[in-house]
Amino acid sequence: MYNPKSMKAEEFISHEEIESTLAYADENRDNMPLIREILDKAKECKGLSHREASVLLANEDPEVLKEIYAMAADIKKKFYGNRIVMFAPLYLSNYCVNGCVYCPYHRQNGHIPRKKLTQEEVAKEVIALQDMGHKRLAIEAGEDPVNNPIEYILECIKTIYSIKHKNGAIRRVNVNIAATTVENYRKLKEAGIGTYILFQETYHKESYEQLHPTGPKHNYAYHTEAMDRAMQGGIDDVGLGVLYGLERYRYEFAGLLMHAEHLEAVHGVGPHTISMPRIKRADDIDPDTFDNGISDEIFEKLCALIRISVPYTGMIISTRESQKVRERTMQLGISQISGASRTSVGGYTEAERPTDTEQFDVSDQRTLDEVVRWLMENGHIPSFCTACYREGRTGDRFMSLCKSGQIQNCCHPNALITLKEFLMDYATPETVRVGNAMIAKELNNIPKEKVRAVTEQYLHEIENGARDFRF
Ligand code: SAM
Repeated sequence: MYNPKSMKAEEFISHEEIESTLAYADENRDNMPLIREILDKAKECKGLSHREASVLLANEDPEVLKEIYAMAADIKKKFYGNRIVMFAPLYLSNYCVNGCVYCPYHRQNGHIPRKKLTQEEVAKEVIALQDMGHKRLAIEAGEDPVNNPIEYILECIKTIYSIKHKNGAIRRVNVNIAATTVENYRKLKEAGIGTYILFQETYHKESYEQLHPTGPKHNYAYHTEAMDRAMQGGIDDVGLGVLYGLERYRYEFAGLLMHAEHLEAVHGVGPHTISMPRIKRADDIDPDTFDNGISDEIFEKLCALIRISVPYTGMIISTRESQKVRERTMQLGISQISGASRTSVGGYTEAERPTDTEQFDVSDQRTLDEVVRWLMENGHIPSFCTACYREGRTGDRFMSLCKSGQIQNCCHPNALITLKEFLMDYATPETVRVGNAMIAKELNNIPKEKVRAVTEQYLHEIENGARDFRF
């Protein structure tokens, strides 16, 4: 029944295979020779299968955990250096016809104000985001074929790319909307989107159906097979994610890795990113009613194990998480974070921090300038780079850049020049001071002399007013 190459959800995410993986992991949780073998394999940076990784997840030996954390930190450093890519979510509409029981936008929620941005409002939100320094957005919307049809989403994308306020620009729009048709994915591709993101929420079919009792999202197979349709529609960067707290984390972890293995087996390229959301308090939603909540310790272990299991996949954490958890997980593999996020529709242009249409509570409420400075003070380079997809380095072309180790001659200088733009256009004097010192130091970490010289030239030109250089 289990077949990673199958196009049927129940076959590439086989329930029996997950249960048998969990039993195998339990049987072998203290099988030290096997664990040693798996750790040695992970060290080669070629990834782990869902079975191997599940054994490590089941093991509770503190020494093994220490080794996993050290390896995750090493692999992160090797493939992503010390860069952290920045983005912000933009909520377009909270109209939704689904009944997702963990989400305040569910149709039955009669007291949450419903709002959908007009194109004028989209433009205003984008200007507010540009004025903070953002270059990369993830657009979010509920599922509602009448209020938010694909044409509306496409129009919003067009508006977002068209706004050029002062030196600002949104250079990459990622899209997080409900599962749709191949034809609609093709339209999104033609509109120039970056990654198509869709959280699986849970890989457990029965729980999935209970958690999504009504609306089109109820259809487990349609939702689970969405990434295949997206790839058939020409989108080759897709982002996976599980909403931790809904189901047993070990089940989700095995399912997530099986999904990645399926994409690799069928399309020759794994997921571009994996997001790590945990369920949060929200209007009409009490996270304590979901009995699979996970501690910070387990969350960290999951991050580290995903890092070593799929070394070429970027990992994303949002402002659902606190500064402390973000700090810790960035050491263990997270490569992309959001900053200064508002999870309400129209949230960036309201004077008071609005919460009435919010999707979930935001734990990290600092400004983008504060987040950027904090990253640098912790040794990370905040990167506003969007070069890869604009240069056509998507899907397997991005993966081969990653695998060839050329990232340090490409992503690293791109991070420095986009950070320089941020410092010139949006940063406070203290952040400018910290940032310029970091750029001066990090220039030395560009291996190729020629690339270093060109980067210096670009930095100089940015100081003189030019913008938007890239390797
Ligand atoms: N509506 C789209 C869909 O169905 O996929 C995607 C947009 S939705 C705004 C983005 C994600 O927010 C969902 O996939 C879900 O995982 C997450 N989410 C919903 N309610 C949440 C809550 N209470 N706490 C944390 N995350 C939540």
